[in-house]
Formats: sequence, structure tokens, C-alpha cells
Amino acid sequence: MKELAIFGSTGSIGCSTLNVVRRERDRFAVSILTAGHNLQRLTEQIREFTPRHVYILEKQDAEALREQFPGLDIYWGKDGMEAISRLTDFDIGVSALVGVAGLRPTWNMIQNGKTVALANKEVLVAGGRLVMEAARKQNATLLTVDSEHSAIMQCLRGENHAEIERILLTASGGPFFEKEITDDITPEEALRHPTWKMGPKITIDSATMMNKGLEFIEAKWLFDMPIDAIDIVVHRESVVHSAIAYQDNSVIAQLGVPDMRIPIGLA
Ligand code: NDP
Repeated sequence: MKELAIFGSTGSIGCSTLNVVRRERDRFAVSILTAGHNLQRLTEQIREFTPRHVYILEKQDAEALREQFPGLDIYWGKDGMEAISRLTDFDIGVSALVGVAGLRPTWNMIQNGKTVALANKEVLVAGGRLVMEAARKQNATLLTVDSEHSAIMQCLRGENHAEIERILLTASGGPFFEKEITDDITPEEALRHPTWKMGPKITIDSATMMNKGLEFIEAKWLFDMPIDAIDIVVHRESVVHSAIAYQDNSVIAQLGVPDMRIPIGLA
């Protein structure tokens, strides 16, 4: 039985991770759950998955949880995030906070030599070199939960890293591919991603293509590649999740339906 610490359990990746746990209750249990503002969803998750420790951003929400779950170990606020992410009674940490808020807790798990399933790409964008060095030094295992990088990880299985010619990072192009971006575009239109259902920040980042820039940096650090050897290829259907071109001119790609439970389950 593996115990999970899910940082950002109330978000899109967090809920998909709990979906994987729900399907495999004989293999996974939950030690830590954390939320930002979604008290109701966290409450439901506590009832269903019975973690030992939980975190919520605001003090009044933490107090509401204390009344409902008197025996539970509850944290809140900045110091609370620092404390809960230093706990060690779990096997795999899922880093699924959004934005740079995820950097510090992920850093703490790495410093404790943990296995980390990393969805939060901002961790590597903000701290790539330091994070990769710390993981090596502390013998922590970094597994990627970004679909493109998970695909690359699969294309590398059993292959020699030194024989990689190029990484081909696929991009759907988002909702505005080949459309003129005008001032009257609404947030609702920008949030209508053609192939993936994700949290709001990454969906907006996909609409502007900024997300692919973040993933480019993420790939550089994760796979230790020079930036000239990473290409971005627009592939509208999101079926090929990425590919590697090898020096012998063969290309190995990973294909699948766009469903985040696949890279999460793999990690
Ligand atoms: P969501 O916005 O859906 O979820 C973010 C989670 O972080 C929620 O649990 C939210 O809590 C919590 N949170 C936000 N801010 C804070 C804070 N300051 N302190 C504590 N908790 C906070 O994001 P996603 O799940 O879409 O994305 C998570 C990460 O994974 C991002 O880095 C994204 O780029 C990456 N990713 C996501 C994919 C996807 O399919 N969604 C695919 C690949 C990568 P609450 O909701 O309770 O406020």
C-alpha cells in the first residue's frame, strides 16, 4: 500500500489523482490533503479518503474543520503549509498546487528525499537548476505528471538518453489557433480549451500559448536537454502527447486520449 500526500487536492489535478486512488483503493491510501479556498470539496474529500493531516489556506476554514473533525491534524496559512510539507509519513507527494505557491512545499518534499509526482510546472520554471540539483543530492525521485513530459518519459524507457537528437513537444494550439486575437475576446472563450479540461490558470496559459513556453523550460530541466534540441510541434488533436527523434532517424511517440488520469496513474 502506497500513501499519498496530495498538495492541491481540490484542484483539477488533485481531483483526478483522487479519481485514480478511488479506482485502486487496494493500492493507494491518502495521508495528506491540502486546499486553498474550497472548504466544501476538502470536507467531502476528508470524509471519503480519511487523511491524517490536512491544510486549508484561511484560519476560519481551519477552525470550521476542527469542529467537524476533532481528531484530525489541521494546518492553515503560510507557516502551516511550511509545516505540513515537512511531514514525512507518506510515500509519494503529488505537487498539484498552481503557480509558484507550489515551489516551497515541493522543495521541502525534495529535501526529505521523497518521491514527487510533479504536476506544478512552475516549480521547474522558477527553480529548475536548484530543484534538479537538490533532487540529485537528496536522492529524491521526480516523476512528471505533465502529459507531454510524461509522454517523453515513456518514449525514453529502455532507450539511451545520449542518442536523443530532438524532443518534439506537441501543442494543441489552444482555442485561438489561426484566429485573430481581438480585444473583445471574453474569459469564457479563452477558457474553452479544444481538447483538455484543466484548471483556469493553465487553460488561460494554453490560450495564449504561454503554457507551451513554461513546458519548454520544464522539458529542458527534466530531461537535461539544450534548448536548441527541443522543438514545439502544433498537433490539433492532442492524440500524440510528444515524441523523441533519435540519432538513427527513428521517432518514438506516445499516443492516447487526452485524460490526465493516464500520466497521473503512470507516475
Ligand atoms: P487548479 O487551479 O485546478 O488547482 C489548484 C490547486 O491549488 C487547488 O487545490 C487550489 O485550492 C490550490 N491552491 C491555489 N492557490 C493556493 C495557495 N496559495 N495556497 C494553497 N493552495 C492553493 O489547477 P490545476 O489542477 O489545473 O493545475 C495544478 C498544476 O498542475 C499547475 O501548475 C498546472 O500548470 C499543472 N498541470 C495541470 C494540468 C491539468 O490538466 N489541470 C495538466 C498539466 C499540468 P482551491 O481550489 O481549494 O482554492
